[in-house]
Amino acid sequence: MTAAGGATGPAADEHAPVTPEWSCGTCGDAWPCSAKRARLLVEYQVDLASLSVYLGSCLASASQDLRTAPVSALQDRFIGWLPRSPRQF
Ligand SMILES: [Zn+2]
Repeated sequence: MTAAGGATGPAADEHAPVTPEWSCGTCGDAWPCSAKRARLLVEYQVDLASLSVYLGSCLASASQDLRTAPVSALQDRFIGWLPRSPRQF
């Protein structure tokens, strides 16, 4: 959130999730797409614990939206790619 620009709404390259499909709004891949994962790691590099909390909340929402998807697959997709999980539960 910088002062640059002034556009309203999400940026075109935001790679934000589109619910309830949980696909990427920018590239159409399953969210979080590889571009979003790389961006999240940069944004949260000093606070991976907060990132895992954030992704955990996304996972909780997605598991309600994507009821046909296996939970283990969703866990893998949302938090399994993190370089180091501070805590598994
Ligand atoms: Zn994307």
